[in-house]
Amino acid sequence: MSKIKFLSGENIPLEMHKVRMVQKLNLLPVEERAQKMEEAGYNTFLLKNRDVFLDMLTDSGVNAMSENQYAAMMQADDSYAGSETFYRLEKVLQETFGLKYFLPAHQGRACENIIARTLVTPGSVALMNYHFTTTKAHITLCGGTVEEIIGDEGLKVQSSAPFKGDIDLDKLNEAIKRLGKDKISFVRIEAGTNLVGGQPVSMKNIREVSRICRGEGIPLVFDASLLADNLYFIKTREEEFKNAEIIDIAREIGSLSDIFYFSARKLGAARGGAILTSDDKLHTRMLELVPLFEGFITYGGMSVREMEAIAVGIRETMDIEVISQTPIFVEALAKELIAKGVPVVTPPGGLGCHVDASRFCDHIPQEQYIAGSLNAAIFIASGVRGMERGTMSEQRNEDGSERMAEMELVRLAIPKRVFTLSQIKYTADRISWLFENRRLIGGLKFVQEPSVLRFFFGRLQPFGNWPDLLVKQFRKDFGESL
Ligand SMILES: *Cc1c(COP(=O)(O)O)cnc(C)c1O
Repeated sequence: MSKIKFLSGENIPLEMHKVRMVQKLNLLPVEERAQKMEEAGYNTFLLKNRDVFLDMLTDSGVNAMSENQYAAMMQADDSYAGSETFYRLEKVLQETFGLKYFLPAHQGRACENIIARTLVTPGSVALMNYHFTTTKAHITLCGGTVEEIIGDEGLKVQSSAPFKGDIDLDKLNEAIKRLGKDKISFVRIEAGTNLVGGQPVSMKNIREVSRICRGEGIPLVFDASLLADNLYFIKTREEEFKNAEIIDIAREIGSLSDIFYFSARKLGAARGGAILTSDDKLHTRMLELVPLFEGFITYGGMSVREMEAIAVGIRETMDIEVISQTPIFVEALAKELIAKGVPVVTPPGGLGCHVDASRFCDHIPQEQYIAGSLNAAIFIASGVRGMERGTMSEQRNEDGSERMAEMELVRLAIPKRVFTLSQIKYTADRISWLFENRRLIGGLKFVQEPSVLRFFFGRLQPFGNWPDLLVKQFRKDFGESL
């Protein structure tokens, strides 16, 4: 994707690809959307995709694939051990990230399981810019804890800092001094920091963290799941890399990491996972776990067809025209919303546009799930499915009381090269309408609440009949229109 100057003087995002395979979408009338939302217990995870117009739940496993990826899938070498497909993927990963060994796993959290079992001991602490749900779960399962050392700017909803995912070096040095290096299992940098709004990490920061870790002998683990967007931001926001090749940025990050892993449901636009390292000892220890949890060491739980698609997808990720669409669309959506006064996380990051529900719905008490309520209301108003990232996604405290989230966000994910600019404009339009009518939105309460990961399967109910009022107002303002 490029931004092209139009006659009006405006820079407009322009798709640098054409659509050659399509999936028909269905936009249900507002009454039916409200009905489907009720049937799904006001939880967008429980909607059927056939009832969703634009699926902005996640980018995981749903990025558009290229013709070359599909073609490569047809020449996959289907053998249990030693398949050509493994060696093709291994070569691409070695050439791209400059690391010696490749261990396959079925997805990102499977890599985390192997890494945590290798490095985490009971009572140890993993330091990181910010946790990700599955990462933290695996560290905790091995008896370790997580300490977040992101810069203060990272937790501000509105900011102008270009790299809000950066680690605070003073906090890192302080933690090493306080805990002692032997108590630290590893330091982890997450590219495109997921839970703070897809915010990138700078090369400057990665270099400094790596220097400190190497000086202390603490392993540096780099989670590259959201690296594609982060590569774009290093190139466009960090002066030194203005003219750099994307692959050179990728290779430098690889060289600074002791363990480098990713979910190929995101990076590489297919489905799978990979761990890379150049450390002989770490490689040997992790290798033993692959057959135990994943599958033989030349497929690791992945289909060989997906492995071929990842190999091509990684090569294509080194092209700025390919990786720029998500960040440019996130920015376009954020800009349209800001122009209408809708509060969003700034600066716009990668992954998706994050709406600040606490300010959007400042009349709803936090214990009535502000972000969950807004997320349900967005689906009713537009047929767009987002994801709640707030208190609903937290787990209750041991005594049963609510643990209130630091931020109440609705994430509208923009999977790579899936949507068009008019679909982005439609989304902004309906959310702006909802913002004007935000006082109609009410809270939610659980009627079925699982004790773990309640946001996946839990069912809720509105306080009062606010969904009906929303539908009535929609009809009044949009007439017969969907
Ligand atoms: C999605 C994700 C993971 C986990 O990957 P899965 O393939 O979903 O298991 C880990 N880290 C980050 C930053 C992610 O976004």
